[in-house]
Amino acid sequence: MRTSYSNIQTFKQCPQKFKFQVIDKIKATKTVHTVFGSSVHAALKFMFSHDPVFPTMDEILANFTEAWATSVLKIVPALDNKLISIYEESGKSLLKNFYKNNPPWNFSVVDTESKFELPIEDSNGGVHVLAGIIDRVDKLSDGVYEIIDYKTNRKLPSQGAVDGDLQMSIYHMALNRRWPSLDPAKIKLSLYFLKHGEKISSSRESSSIAATKDAVLATIKQMEKNIAENAFPAIISILCDYCAYKPICPAWKHLYKKADISAPDEAQLQQVLQEYFAIKESETNNDKRVKDLQAIIKAYMEANKVDRVFDERGYYVSKKLQQRFKYDFDKVKAILAEANLMDKWNAILEADEKKLKEIMVSLPYSIRDQISAQKNLSKEFITLTASIKPAKK
Ligand code: SF4
Repeated sequence: MRTSYSNIQTFKQCPQKFKFQVIDKIKATKTVHTVFGSSVHAALKFMFSHDPVFPTMDEILANFTEAWATSVLKIVPALDNKLISIYEESGKSLLKNFYKNNPPWNFSVVDTESKFELPIEDSNGGVHVLAGIIDRVDKLSDGVYEIIDYKTNRKLPSQGAVDGDLQMSIYHMALNRRWPSLDPAKIKLSLYFLKHGEKISSSRESSSIAATKDAVLATIKQMEKNIAENAFPAIISILCDYCAYKPICPAWKHLYKKADISAPDEAQLQQVLQEYFAIKESETNNDKRVKDLQAIIKAYMEANKVDRVFDERGYYVSKKLQQRFKYDFDKVKAILAEANLMDKWNAILEADEKKLKEIMVSLPYSIRDQISAQKNLSKEFITLTASIKPAKK
């Protein structure tokens, strides 16, 4: 399979989005985030070009303004003029800060927007190709090569997240393939967060190459399986608000289509939904009221020193003491060991899905991917969840 880090990321975020974008090749409308990001990236590439001298700050800002003014027209839904200038000013200020802290003549830039193709062989001898573009590669004075990826997002990740970042691990492998004689320890990986002017750097041991390869192959295997089964579930998340396919996505299209739908079953559905939410609401109110009534009954029992109270029909409510205990597992283990019953102790320690989910969030991404690839579907069923918070388009 020929793919890219961006496709892998899309697949992992939402297989349905992957289907729209990669399989069906439906051209996505441009969002403000993609247009802003690519205009800033283009200006940064221009900043480090010198022919023979580096461009001035004014020339860089003009480059950005021109790219932004042209591409902003492609954004759907169209931005109002006020928002267009807010973004433009934010882009200019971010570029000015970057230029001030990173004068281009202070760096030995080896390549910008550097394209790569990385072949990865699976255990059956099949070769997959990962294509990608590295924003910038610098050679540092100590002979280290630094890969720099610019980010326009607001959120700063933790050092642990950068250390386990799959994209940077793939870039590390790609550069190492380009220059095989380069010591992998001499490749520095940096994410530059433009809105904060912060750079977070990391490195990779040679041993991490195998883990990256396994993580990529595990996702490719899963992609191939989903394609063969034509199974592309929609994963609803906060990222749906940035997804250009929202109006045609099965998880959202009813919200967009509703006004046009005149089918008889649509009218019935609207009635059903109204009744459904009315029942849900009264359930919530009843639960709340039951808790209030319980508190009054408990207070009465305590004040009158009774364990049961009866209504006029003889229906009653009883007080029952509930207790929960925790074992001292060190002592339990010692008792079982002394009784030569360690097999029983081992039975307690048996693998537990819930505990595995708990530790997954603390694992590096590459290990998480490898573990995720080992899960098999054991049961499938559909449940309905309801929200009384109105969805926005
Ligand atoms: S809107 Fe959300 S669920 Fe639908 S394709 Fe996009 S990311 Fe996936």
